[in-house]
Amino acid sequence: MPGSALAAIAIGELVGVGPKSRLLFADLGIENAADLLDDFPFRYDDLREPISVQALRSGTQNPGEVNMLGRVVSVQERRVRGLEIVDVRAQDETGTFAARWIGRRRFVYGRFREGMRIFVRGRVERTLAEPIVNVAQYRILGESEQYRGEMVPIYRASKDLPSRKIAAVVRKNLPRMLAGAGDDVIPEGLARERGFPPQLQAYRAAHAPSDPQEARVARERFAFAEFFVRAMGAQLRRAERERSHDAAALRSSPALLADFERSLPFALTNAQRRAIGEIWSDMARDVPMNRLLQGDVGSGKTLVAAAAVLLATRNGYQSALMAPTEILASQHRDKLVPLLLPLQITIEYVSGSQRLSERRAAIGRIGSGEARLAIGTHALLTESVEFKTLGLAIIDEQHRFGVEHRARLRAKGSAPHTLHMTATPIPRTLAQSLYADLDESKLDEMPPGRMPVQTFAVREARRERAFAFVRANVARGGQAYVVAPAIEEGESGAASAVAVYEELAGSVLSDLRVGLVHGRLAPREKEAVMARVRAGEIDVLVATTVIEVGVDIPNANVMVVLDANRYGLAQLHQLRGRVGRGAAESFCVLVYPDDRAESERLSILTQSNDGFAIAEADLALRGSGEFAGTAQSGKDDLRFGDIARDFALYVQARQAAEQILAVDPNLRDPGHAALRAALGTSPSSRALLTSS
Ligand code: ADP
Ligand code: MG
Repeated sequence: MPGSALAAIAIGELVGVGPKSRLLFADLGIENAADLLDDFPFRYDDLREPISVQALRSGTQNPGEVNMLGRVVSVQERRVRGLEIVDVRAQDETGTFAARWIGRRRFVYGRFREGMRIFVRGRVERTLAEPIVNVAQYRILGESEQYRGEMVPIYRASKDLPSRKIAAVVRKNLPRMLAGAGDDVIPEGLARERGFPPQLQAYRAAHAPSDPQEARVARERFAFAEFFVRAMGAQLRRAERERSHDAAALRSSPALLADFERSLPFALTNAQRRAIGEIWSDMARDVPMNRLLQGDVGSGKTLVAAAAVLLATRNGYQSALMAPTEILASQHRDKLVPLLLPLQITIEYVSGSQRLSERRAAIGRIGSGEARLAIGTHALLTESVEFKTLGLAIIDEQHRFGVEHRARLRAKGSAPHTLHMTATPIPRTLAQSLYADLDESKLDEMPPGRMPVQTFAVREARRERAFAFVRANVARGGQAYVVAPAIEEGESGAASAVAVYEELAGSVLSDLRVGLVHGRLAPREKEAVMARVRAGEIDVLVATTVIEVGVDIPNANVMVVLDANRYGLAQLHQLRGRVGRGAAESFCVLVYPDDRAESERLSILTQSNDGFAIAEADLALRGSGEFAGTAQSGKDDLRFGDIARDFALYVQARQAAEQILAVDPNLRDPGHAALRAALGTSPSSRALLTSS
């Protein structure tokens, strides 16, 4: 990992970077020397080995791009409708081949003469007569020049900052960057054991390898280092938590669970009973609970949360439940009040859009301890909210909160038990790394009586039919959502909620009551629209993904998702969880541009309702970076590794971390100093150090 010295060298200070290219680098996210050193090529053009005509002829596979060396025997130049075509025939020791340049104004016209020695690289066509190379790169060699090809690094680039330019800057500044590269986080013994080259050598190999194998090993080394630091951070946090013994050990009993069940209008599912058991036994320890409750929408997480609140209350502790949006928070309130009031658990609600007097009163009752459960948004985090005895912090859709927010809620108690909840099923592999210090409970079973949402994918051309279907459904007394990716018309070309609303309300469905909700409305306005939907005063709600999580309108039973191709599978699954919450049969119509691959992708959703399976498929399709960036938004900041792709390597790194902590639990060994420093300073591990 680069030292902080490198991060202090702005990209503009490097040789070969002028004021203009400084900005172009910044556009690529490269602001300083550390960024540049860590910006590895994503592939290399291998110019090392020329292939002979004979070898090319005898090969069975299509070799793709090849390098060839030869002496020019003839040159033919033509102009065809504004195009220049240059055909050069050349000869090596084993036969002849053709090299062809086609282009508007390639500067190769008039360049070649009989007898010259040339090197060419490009895609090869193997014709019966002779192989033809469609030249991408070439070089004219001197008579006595020895051909020495290299591995040419190809960097992620932009139109105005081509890879070639980036490579040149890296080359010119590599010694300086390596000098500031900082200490290796992988302890020497471990690096040796794994056969890793020294860090500096690995950096050099990543940017200027002498063969593909060297580059591969280098990349693997840095991915390993990154995984290693991450796994180490998680283990340290877990160990620290296990050592702390400062949480309240709460007493539960089978009688309490029986009381709870008796107060419910239905029996708990097995999955709910198991999750409650896991949570209660965590809360019975004096080590603070740190558990993630995962369950598809509708799997009944609210009840499980209620059981945790019940246990805290019966032991004299207050609870807090924080949700990322006003809509979610108020829904939690509406669902929990009828569950908890019969159990004499009083609830207060705190949100930013509340009248000041109301909020003050709520905060007062939280501070006095009269309120046993405080439900709210970020507003719960304000300083004026104080608890008398906060023993349980529940964080809904935890990935939507920053690390500091979660920590701030917990800081309102002394070592409270923490329950994280999410309706976004997280693939097992990702959960193990992103949330390595969390224990997991899964609700993998739906309450009885819920019918799966019937899902169809239809091509854009049949969009009108989807709206006709909406109309028919409303005629039968249902309500519908129409989801669009963008709020307003923008350059992305995505369907916009505002435009769709105008289209539907103005003409297509003008006989129905159409509403609109999106993220740019004030919380109060949003809440007002949702209230009208809930009251049945709106038939069709056009929305962006603000309705994504947790919105619960049982009478809504049709969802149309426009531009479904713009969403990940996991997110689409989330969205369709908004319907199918009542007794009526429900439907989800995914509208997508005509595209075969897209149709295949969406078929995963039309065929399955299992959120965990869909999440795995999504991860496999998109890689964990993407997955984390969008659907799960835990913002995976891994640079070199990808948990999905490199899971085996991650497991090895985790084992290595375990072994080191077993002998040096506090990383006091001087050989672990760089590692300790990295755990304290890198953004990812800083996040990890406090994310639990
Ligand atoms: P989630 O928060 O996981 O999306 P909820 O807790 O809102 O799910 O529950 C969804 C619906 O299922 C609610 O209407 C709830 O009353 C109902 N429900 C929850 N648990 C059960 C159960 N064990 N049996 C029947 N219905 C249940
Ligand atoms: Mg819920």
